[in-house]
Amino acid sequence: MNRRITVIENILSANDRIADLNRNMLNKAKVFSLNIMASPGAGKTTFIEKTIEHFLGRFRLAVINGDIATTIDADRASVAGAIAVQVNTGGECHLDAQMISNALQKINLEEIDLLIVENVGNLVCPASFKLGTHKNILIASVPEGDDKPYKYPGMYQGADALIVNKIDLLPYIPFKMEYFIQGIKALNPKIQPFFVSCLTKEGLNDWFSWITDQIIAFKSLSITQD
Ligand code: MG
Ligand code: ZN
Repeated sequence: MNRRITVIENILSANDRIADLNRNMLNKAKVFSLNIMASPGAGKTTFIEKTIEHFLGRFRLAVINGDIATTIDADRASVAGAIAVQVNTGGECHLDAQMISNALQKINLEEIDLLIVENVGNLVCPASFKLGTHKNILIASVPEGDDKPYKYPGMYQGADALIVNKIDLLPYIPFKMEYFIQGIKALNPKIQPFFVSCLTKEGLNDWFSWITDQIIAFKSLSITQD
């Protein structure tokens, strides 16, 4: 095996060990957590804002925003009503488990029900770095085109749920839904899809009830394990 591959494998296994520690910490505090991944401009931050606004007063939320340089997304999450922690990756194009571990130190997990991690906008490497979160959520948006599952299979294979965002643009863009769905089914038949528009709010209620079910199931599982 060449040296480059060995180095990359060592980095990933060190990352996985820290991801396991993060997961234990979240489980212990009964915090359900999501890793939201997408390309830049898919609508991650707006989607997270809508989610925060919906759950205000029902679940206590924290958001960790990964960004290469700015705090714009964390500021928006904070305005929407969540505890927000910004992670500037210093040029790195993905979040890793150590960055999440550092961010978790800044959150009182006992006061949180749901943690949303907004990963750096990138459809390649975020899928390779486990963070310790419970579910991987991928957002794909209509303007990106219907060929994305074919071009970025790694992201689709590792996702638990897929948000197809900006469906209000379907009448204006040559996006073949059948072709797109075919690609997804070939890669990940178990993925849970949601077809939404954050602008018209179409489809968002299905997402909110799925998340509610996930949180309730997670909490009741933690209680029976106590
Ligand atoms: Mg964003
Ligand atoms: Zn990267």
